[in-house]
Amino acid sequence: MDTPRELEWYLRDHLFRQAGKGRTRIARAEIAGEMISLYLRYRNYDPGQLAGLMTPVIDDLVSMRVLSQLEGGLLEAAPMTRMQCAKCFYVSYLAEAEPRVCQRCSGTELGEFPKRK
Ligand SMILES: [Zn+2]
Repeated sequence: MDTPRELEWYLRDHLFRQAGKGRTRIARAEIAGEMISLYLRYRNYDPGQLAGLMTPVIDDLVSMRVLSQLEGGLLEAAPMTRMQCAKCFYVSYLAEAEPRVCQRCSGTELGEFPKRK
């Protein structure tokens, strides 16, 4: 079973990729189904089951201001930056309101990912 932390990473990844396509608003009810169709890792999940697992993860992101709750069950994603830790190489997706620290080791030396040539 996936940990909420892994689920959060994949959700941030999903939000980041959607924002890259200009889509920053997403219906809460559709997120689980989208994750199932996009990520091999979640392919075998039942949509209702995954939605249940995601509820606390989404609520956490709302309290961290990565997501804002709009009317009609819509969520608005804050602009995020993808950064890689110089120490452990973990890739973090961080919203503007969040401290620039690695989400795995709390290291503060973060670089842009992928690196610019
Ligand atoms: Zn790190």
